[in-house]
Amino acid sequence: MNEFARLRKQMIEYQLAARGLDDKTVLDAVGAVPREAFVPTDLVEFAYQDSPLPIAASQTISQPYIVALMTSALELTPEDRVLEVGTGSGYAAAVLAEIVDEVYSIERHKILADTARNRLSELGYKNTHVLHADGTLGWPEQAPFDAIVVAAGGPEVPATLKQQLAIGGRLVIPVGATLHTQKLLRVRRISEHEYQQEDLGGVRFVPLIGAAGWEGEAADIPAAKKAEASLPELIYQSSEHFGFIDHANLDNLLDRIGDSRLVLLGEASHGSAEFYEMRARITQELIEKKGFTVIAVEADWPDANRIDHYIHDTSPDPLLESAPFARFPTWMWANHSVLEFTHWLKSYNEKVASADKQAGFYGLDLYSLGSSIESVLNYLDTVDPETAEVARVRYGCLSPWTSDPGLYGRVAITKQYRECEQDVLDILQGLLKKRLDYSLADGERFFNAEQNARLVASAERYYRTMYYAENNSWNQRDQHMFDTLKSVLAFRGPESKAVIWAHNSHIGDARATQMSARGELNIGQLARQEYGDAAYLIGFGTDHGTVAAASEWGGPMETKQVQPSHIDSYERVCHNVASDNFLLPLRRAQQASPQAMARELLLEERLERAIGVIYRPDTEMQSHYFYASLPNQFDEYIWFDETRAVEPLTRETIKDMPDTFPFGL
Ligand code: SAM
Repeated sequence: MNEFARLRKQMIEYQLAARGLDDKTVLDAVGAVPREAFVPTDLVEFAYQDSPLPIAASQTISQPYIVALMTSALELTPEDRVLEVGTGSGYAAAVLAEIVDEVYSIERHKILADTARNRLSELGYKNTHVLHADGTLGWPEQAPFDAIVVAAGGPEVPATLKQQLAIGGRLVIPVGATLHTQKLLRVRRISEHEYQQEDLGGVRFVPLIGAAGWEGEAADIPAAKKAEASLPELIYQSSEHFGFIDHANLDNLLDRIGDSRLVLLGEASHGSAEFYEMRARITQELIEKKGFTVIAVEADWPDANRIDHYIHDTSPDPLLESAPFARFPTWMWANHSVLEFTHWLKSYNEKVASADKQAGFYGLDLYSLGSSIESVLNYLDTVDPETAEVARVRYGCLSPWTSDPGLYGRVAITKQYRECEQDVLDILQGLLKKRLDYSLADGERFFNAEQNARLVASAERYYRTMYYAENNSWNQRDQHMFDTLKSVLAFRGPESKAVIWAHNSHIGDARATQMSARGELNIGQLARQEYGDAAYLIGFGTDHGTVAAASEWGGPMETKQVQPSHIDSYERVCHNVASDNFLLPLRRAQQASPQAMARELLLEERLERAIGVIYRPDTEMQSHYFYASLPNQFDEYIWFDETRAVEPLTRETIKDMPDTFPFGL
C-alpha cells in the first residue's frame, strides 16, 4: 500500500467512520478516489487532513467529511443521474462518479471547470461531464436529476434546481442568511408540486454566486454592505492559510519580519493552546533561522529565571524553594504547551556551543515582590553579607505585605503606614553602585539580582499607585516590562534580537485602541515608538472553542466555552473568511492589491475581544470587548477560527513524563 493509500484509509477511519458516517457505499467511494490528485501540488502533503484546502480562483476543495456527509445524504443508487453545482477541484464529482451512473457538474470559474474536466478524464472517469456556467440555473438539457448537490452556500434554495429534480429526487444544499454560515438542507421532491425539507445541521461553505445565489441579491443591497460582503473574500485572498500549526509554512512571515529586532507575539486569551503552540513554532524558526536569542514573556522574573537555568543545563537557584508559576493564574505558564517549548529550548541550547548564541528565557512582569526580595537578599548574602544586613532591614518595610501586596497600596493611600519607596530605591542604587565589583565575580548572577531589585522598586510603585488612578498602575507595569526587555537586550549585546510573548493588550499598539483614550500605553506602543518598523507586532484571534480561565481573580481554573464572536467585531469578519486558520499581513501593501484593499476596509474601528485569565461570557460585551483599528494595532494577525483550552500541568497530567523539572509539581 502506498503512503497516500495508507493516509486515505486512516482518513476514512478517523475522520469519517469515527464521526458516525457508516454508509459503506460512500466510504468505499471515498476510498477509491485519490484526493492528492485534486489538491494543488504544494499542498499534496495535506490532502488527507480534516480540512478544506485552497484551490485556484480563491475557492476551496471541501473537507472530506463534508463531501462524504453530503454524498450520503443524497441516498444514491447505482442507476442515479446526479447534478453537482460547484465542481471546484472535481473531487466530489469523482466520489459521486464512483457510486452513480452519470454525474453532471457545473462550475462558474472557467479555470476550475477546465482543470477539473481534464483531471477527471486523466483519472479515467468516463461518466463525469463538466460545464462552465452558472449552476443556480441548473442544466435543463440533462434534467431531471435523481439527486442534486450544491457545494456552495446560497441565501435560499433555488427554485430552478427544485424543478429539475425527478419525483422522489433529493437536493442537498447549504442555505444561510449570511455569506459564510449555513444550514445543510435536504429537499425531497414528493410530487409535481410537493417538496419536503429537512435540516441536517450547521456548515460553512464558500458563497454560491449566481442568478439565484448571492450576486443576484447583492445587486439590491447598498454599496457599504457589498464592501462588507467582499471583505472576508479580500482577507481570504491576501492571507496565508494552514491546516495544522506544525505544517504552516512560515517562510513568507519570516520574510515580512525581515531584520526586525523585536517580534512581539500576542494572544487573544491567556488560556488557548493554539496561541502558545503557534508562538512556539514561530519562535523556534526565529531562533534557528534568524538568530533570535531572547524570549521575554509576560511572567515574573524569578519564575522565568528558573526556566532559564533549566534550559542552560545549570542547576536552579537552590534558594528559591517554591515551584515556578505557583501564583494565580498558574495555567498561564505551567501548561503542557509551555513545557514542550522549554524542552525544545533546552535541546536547542545543547546543540549550540557558544553561550551568547544560546536562547535565554526572561520574565518581564512584576508580581513577584516576595520572591524577588528573597532573591536579592540571597545574592547579597553570598557576595556582600554586610550590605545584605542593611538591605534586609530596608526591605523589612515591605515584609508585612509580601503575601498580599495590594494591601500595601490600600494602607499607603491612608498615609497611616510609612511608604517604602526610598528604602527599595536605596537598595537598587546601592547595588548599581557596586556593579563593577559584584559583576566581576559573576555577571550573570549580578544581572539577575539587579533585575530583581528593579522589579521590587517597580512593584512598590505599582502597588502604591494602584489606588490613585487605574491607568497609572497599568502604565507602570507596561513601562516596567518594556524597561526590563531593554535591560535584557543590553545584557545580551548589541546584536541581540528578542521575541516577546504577552497578551494582545500588551502587544498591539495601544494608540490604535480604546486604551489610549484612558491614557494607557503598552509594550507594543513603546516598542513602535523606539524601534519603528524594526518592531514587528503580531496579534492573535479566535471565534469560538474552549478556553482555560477563572470566573474571578484567584478562582479555580475552569474550561469554558468561548462564545461565537460579536457581529460587529473583527473576529466575526475573520470567522466569515472561507479558511479556518490563516496569517493575515496588515502592513501597507501595493496599491489595489487584495491586501491593500483588505487593509483599507479593516482600518475602520470595530470591536475586538480580549479574554485574560478571567472570562465572563454572561457580561461579555462589557467585560471583554473594546474598539480598535486592527491594521494600526498590529503588523500581522493570526487567526484560529476554533481554539481549545490549554492543558494545565498537574500531578495527574505529568505523572508519566520522565523529566518534569523545572515545573516541579
Ligand atoms: N466540490 C468541490 C470539490 O470537491 O473540490 C468544492 C466546491 S467549492 C467548496 C464550491 C465551488 O462552487 C467553487 O468552486 C465555486 O466557484 C463554485 N460556485 C459558486 N457559485 C457557483 C455557481 N453559481 N455555479 C457554479 N459554481 C459555483
